[in-house]
Amino acid sequence: MIRLESLTKTYGKFVAVDNIDLHVPRGTMFGFVGPNGAGKTTTLRIIAGIMRPTAGRIWLGGDDVVADPMAAKARLGFIPDRPFLYEKLTGAEFLQFVAGLYGQDGEVVEKRIDELLEVFELSRWKHELIESYSHGMRQKLIISSALIHRPECIVVDEPMVGLDPKAARLLKDILRQFVDRGGTVLMSTHTLDIAETMCDKIAIIQAGKIVAQGTMAELREQTAAGNASLEELFLKLTGGIAIRELAAVLED
Ligand code: ATP
Repeated sequence: MIRLESLTKTYGKFVAVDNIDLHVPRGTMFGFVGPNGAGKTTTLRIIAGIMRPTAGRIWLGGDDVVADPMAAKARLGFIPDRPFLYEKLTGAEFLQFVAGLYGQDGEVVEKRIDELLEVFELSRWKHELIESYSHGMRQKLIISSALIHRPECIVVDEPMVGLDPKAARLLKDILRQFVDRGGTVLMSTHTLDIAETMCDKIAIIQAGKIVAQGTMAELREQTAAGNASLEELFLKLTGGIAIRELAAVLED
C-alpha cells in the first residue's frame, strides 16, 4: 500500500507538488500521468525517500517514509527515470551491491540474481562491465535491482523508455504478475495508452495538483466524457485541447 497525505513540495516560492492525497491499495496498478513539469518525478522521488517533502506524510505499508526511512525503503523497489549505475561493476556485482544495501547476501541472493538475469535475458552479460551494456540492458539491470529484495511496492518512473518491444512486454507482464500476487505499483508515464490498458486506476496531475483520479470509468464520469480515451480525458483536463486547436489554426 502506498498512501500520500497532503503532500507538498516547494522549491523556494515555487510549489512543485501542491497538497496531494493519493491511496494505492495492495494489488493495484496505479498510473500517474500529467504534462511535463507537473510534479510526477518529484512525487515519486519523495515516495522513494530520495527527497524530503516540505509538508505531508508518505506511507509505504505501515511505515512512514520520513520517520522510519529504513523500514519503509525495505518495502520498496524504485525504478527511476534517470538511473545511476556504476560503470566499472559487472551486472552481477551491481546486483550484489544493491542486495547488500538491503542487508542481503549469500546463496539466496546469488540464486535471485541468476533468476532475474535469466528473466531479463542478461545472463550472458552477468560478468561483463556495465560500461559495455546498451541502454536497454541497463534499464533491465535497474529493473532487476529494484526487484532483488522482493519488495511489496514498486514505484516506477517512465518504465518503458528505451526498452525494445519484447522487453517492454516482459516488464508489463512482470508488473501485472506482481500486482496479481498482492503487490502495489505506482507508475508514471507519458504513454497514455499504456496507462489506460495496464492500470487499474489513474491519477492526472497538473501544476502539482491532482485534477482527477479513479478507474477509467470513474474518470469518464468525473469529466462527463462519455466514452473518451485517456488521451482525450488528459487533453480535456490539462488544457491540451486548446493547444491542439491552436496547432490546427497554425496549420491553416
Ligand atoms: P516531466 O514529465 O517533464 O518529467 P514531471 O511531472 O516529472 O515532468 P518534475 O520533474 O516533478 O515534473 O518537476 C516539477 C516542477 O518542479 C517543474 O516545474 C520543475 O522545473 C520543478 N523542479 C524540479 N526539481 C527542481 C529543483 N531541484 N529545483 C527547482 N525546481 C525544480
